Amino acid sequence: MFLDKKRFKNAFLERLENMYGKNINESTTIEQFMVLGSMVKEHISKNWILTKKNYRERGEKQVYYLSIEFLLGRMLGTNLLNLGIREIVEEGLRDLDISLEKIEQQEPDPGLGNGGLGRLAACFLDSLASLHLPGHGCGIRYKYGLFEQKIVDGYQIELPDYWLREGNVWEVRRSDKAVEVRFGGNVWVEKVGERLVFHHENYESVLAVPYDIPVPGYKNKTVNTLRLWSAESAIKDFDFQCLNNRDYQKIIDYKRSTESISEFLYPDDSKEEGKILRLKQQYFLVSAGLQSIIRSYKKRHQDIHDLPNKVAIHINDTHPVLAIPELMRILMDEEGLEWDQAWSITTRTISYTNHTTLQEALERWPIDMMKTLLPRIYMIIEEINERFCRELWNKYPGEWDLIHQMAIIADGQVKMAHLAIVGSYQVNGVSKIHTEILKKQVMKNFYACFPYKFHNKTNGITHRRWLLKANPLLAKIISDTISPNWIEHPSDLNYLQNYAKDPSFQEQIFLVKKKNKISLSNYIQEKYNISVDPNSIFDVQVKRLHAYKRQLLNVFYIMDLYNRLKENPDLDIIPRTFIFGAKAAPGYFLAKRIIKLINTVATVINNDPTIHGKIKVIFIENYGVTLAEKIIPAADIGQQISTASKEASGTGNMKFMMNGALTLGTLDGANIEIKDEVGDNNIFIFGLTPQEVLHYYQQGGYRARDFYQSDPRLRKILDQLMNGFFLKEVVEFKFIYYSLLQENDEFFVLKDFAAYADTQQRIDQSYRDHKAWTEKSIINIAHSGIFSSDRTIYEYASGTWEIRPIFIP
Ligand SMILES: *Cc1c(COP(=O)(O)O)cnc(C)c1O
Repeated sequence: MFLDKKRFKNAFLERLENMYGKNINESTTIEQFMVLGSMVKEHISKNWILTKKNYRERGEKQVYYLSIEFLLGRMLGTNLLNLGIREIVEEGLRDLDISLEKIEQQEPDPGLGNGGLGRLAACFLDSLASLHLPGHGCGIRYKYGLFEQKIVDGYQIELPDYWLREGNVWEVRRSDKAVEVRFGGNVWVEKVGERLVFHHENYESVLAVPYDIPVPGYKNKTVNTLRLWSAESAIKDFDFQCLNNRDYQKIIDYKRSTESISEFLYPDDSKEEGKILRLKQQYFLVSAGLQSIIRSYKKRHQDIHDLPNKVAIHINDTHPVLAIPELMRILMDEEGLEWDQAWSITTRTISYTNHTTLQEALERWPIDMMKTLLPRIYMIIEEINERFCRELWNKYPGEWDLIHQMAIIADGQVKMAHLAIVGSYQVNGVSKIHTEILKKQVMKNFYACFPYKFHNKTNGITHRRWLLKANPLLAKIISDTISPNWIEHPSDLNYLQNYAKDPSFQEQIFLVKKKNKISLSNYIQEKYNISVDPNSIFDVQVKRLHAYKRQLLNVFYIMDLYNRLKENPDLDIIPRTFIFGAKAAPGYFLAKRIIKLINTVATVINNDPTIHGKIKVIFIENYGVTLAEKIIPAADIGQQISTASKEASGTGNMKFMMNGALTLGTLDGANIEIKDEVGDNNIFIFGLTPQEVLHYYQQGGYRARDFYQSDPRLRKILDQLMNGFFLKEVVEFKFIYYSLLQENDEFFVLKDFAAYADTQQRIDQSYRDHKAWTEKSIINIAHSGIFSSDRTIYEYASGTWEIRPIFIP
């Protein structure tokens, strides 16, 4: 049906009639989307079945990527591109007087993730399939994704994101593959001969039902599977008939409590979430995932001992770390293996990636909670801990403190990162600096114990979504200049280096950027009724709102620039449009004050005629994948200004460089590797180094107040927070003020301010020479290939999972 335009049109019209009983003029755009989506899914299905058959029959090793988040973004556009049918569809629809773009905008953006970690999982799926690798995702089908953000009077308002309202065209419900997950109850032990048999009783049973989403590779026949689990009650309908009222109420309560497990994505990826429900979600994902992995393994293979040669299980941060005790449980309690055999299999099957060194994000669960909710799993963790501590005792006799520090269970808590390191064969960091910090600081005792486990895998992004799809104009001039080979071999982008000084190519690059800026300006005009100048520098910071990411540093500079413009309206600056996009976790008070501050400053500046529109400040609400695809191609500057040592990698930075924006950033995460790739002249680096920051944290010696006292710019800005200059209700910003001056500015905003301001001035100077600027921009694009997630996935495939491509004939 996608062979040519004519066949497509006929099939489209016919299906519109079949599904909705309407002709083209009567149909709504959402109906047209559902029709097109269902056609595309059907088209994918043939190769999906073929891929599954090949994987089954060949019996080669496969990887399962367990993640509590998959931040997928819309799928129609990427599916059309990967299947190579975008043009036929676009032209066919045009004949029918329908715009493909409009149809694409009907698709809800499945926000099943908070930020970088969830987006990484989605990029990995695309790369796995595109590289013919047998790798599948395993996650939760949250009924509500990350909240929808509205800004009202400068404040963030959170609305539920019911993305499933119209159903999800891409998924297939597989009731036949449902499994049971057990919570609570009690465990008793029976000795049968020499063996201990564990009986789990009085538990609450939850039905995990998988919904499969196909993941097609780029112009190949591979179609992998993303399996998202939904929680349902295990009660059959006919049970209802013979119930009295009391039992009926009990059943209603039970139904509600089971279904709540897959109801919400926790909108907080930075702080420990002390809720039982979150722990339930983690075990639900892991137990359902592992049961299904083992069941499918047993269909293909005889011997459970061979599992590590046929299956790799990867855990994306510690949220799925219960995979370790759960695999032990299955191997011992269900497959009848002894501890030592089960442990050997488990620790050769599971690998782990750490995503943060923020203390508050290191997961710990109270023993009592774990014991009550997961009695058998807790017993297994206890045993793992005892054996591990005994090993430590042999290695470090008498060193109680060290052993206490390294224990998996201590101080009334289960330490999930410790469990992850002990129970997996590999621990990965997500950038060179992050891996070094893990080895030398955060996990140094574990590194001393298991140096061979620690590896680096610098993150990446799929260039197919983030360049080919998000920036078609740029993709086209690249393909016209160096051939389209870069799409399958992103390192070929390197050839652009030869055109960095080519005036005609520079001209094209400049023009494309301009067009993307105009298109974003139009969006801003329509949505917020604010006009921005496409000739101004588009200076963008889009990412989750967090103190360590330092949106505050950015807004302080804007306040300073505004102060200078008020003093001297003739100040010679290149007009600048500052663009923000950021969601704050609903309970994160400081982050929400910062959103209010940005919006307050924006309102004052955008409405002040005396500065002649030289600066504009735009806060784009509801930042997510879809908006990222619109904003990033229009950026001249991407701000990556986290406190050095705090951003494990960042992936936003990679998207910006790939789209020709220059990085304004600290020596943090992957910024360092970007700098090493493009060279010091093609990036704007400032501020404390990771070593300096870590030194301050360990040795003290930082006094934020000194900077307030000695830098008149900072004094003015901080005073303005408290004297009603921007907003009469000064209580709004008190918390920000105190976090800096009373609590000594944990993230060194004041310390880095001067260097940041200087660097912003350098950018202003630099942009005046359009040719030189565009040359830098081209050099960034030319060096972005290494940050394709294809490279990351190659490294995981060969260095961690030991999986090989399977070409589908
Ligand atoms: C890439 C991406 C992120 C991660 O951005 P960082 O700047 O690395 O924090 C977060 N949210 C969305 C929607 C993204 O696409």
